[in-house]
Amino acid sequence: MVKQRFGQHFLIDQSVAAREVDYAHITKDDVVLEIGPGKGIITQLLAQKADHVIAIEIDRRLVEQLKTTLAANVTLISGDALTVDFKTLPQFSKIVSNLPFEISSPITFKFLASSFSVAILIFQKDFAQRLVASPGTKEYSRLTVGVSYKAGCRILENVPRSAFSPPPKIESSIVELIPYDTPAFVVENEQFFFKLTKQLFNHRRKKIHSTLKSLYGNIEQLPFLDQRVEELTPEQIGRLSDELYRLS
Ligand code: SAM
Repeated sequence: MVKQRFGQHFLIDQSVAAREVDYAHITKDDVVLEIGPGKGIITQLLAQKADHVIAIEIDRRLVEQLKTTLAANVTLISGDALTVDFKTLPQFSKIVSNLPFEISSPITFKFLASSFSVAILIFQKDFAQRLVASPGTKEYSRLTVGVSYKAGCRILENVPRSAFSPPPKIESSIVELIPYDTPAFVVENEQFFFKLTKQLFNHRRKKIHSTLKSLYGNIEQLPFLDQRVEELTPEQIGRLSDELYRLS
């Protein structure tokens, strides 16, 4: 069996590619960032609608092929999207990508640290479900909390495995991500909030009291001590973070 490199499951269903691009409502005012153009099925459609497309591809063989097929308004960058400094790119307004599943989480947080109006992204379905999960479900996670603090997120449609070649092990979903102008709620110290969220989800089944007692000592005045982090809304975790931050 051929070893899968770089999460290469190429989209072969033109109608899915067309809908993926349509969801972004691209006009000639848009500069669009695409991670992993692959063989260019989405890139070609983006180039027809946008003023400009910036496409970052890690696989040098694909880069060589793409150079001969892409339109003049596509800037192709050969490299790893996780290490390319987005600040060195022309300012983009939208992001459209069928992402390699290995980098789903770090690339999503990298997107959210940059500026754009909408991202339309194909993720594995289980990752997409974690993005939009509600408290109290098994999909609710550190990812849900971190993303929902910065952006609104919804699943637009599920895509069958047969839309890709070779087919991935599980279904995919097309997801819309719209960053908030200001975060969904205010926390005193973002770094502390993210650190605490990670610490709590490392012990998601433990009572908050037991996790925090060993890490922070005297915490008896804090709220939610008798609950588990998986039961709290992102905003409640923010409140807990603020009260703990003031104590420490
Ligand atoms: N967009 C194409 C399509 O829809 O058919 C390809 C999608 S495929 C799921 C993911 C693509 O991302 C591949 O072309 C792969 O080589 C590329 N890729 C994987 N890791 C990458 C990274 N770290 N930076 C940039 N491109 C990457």
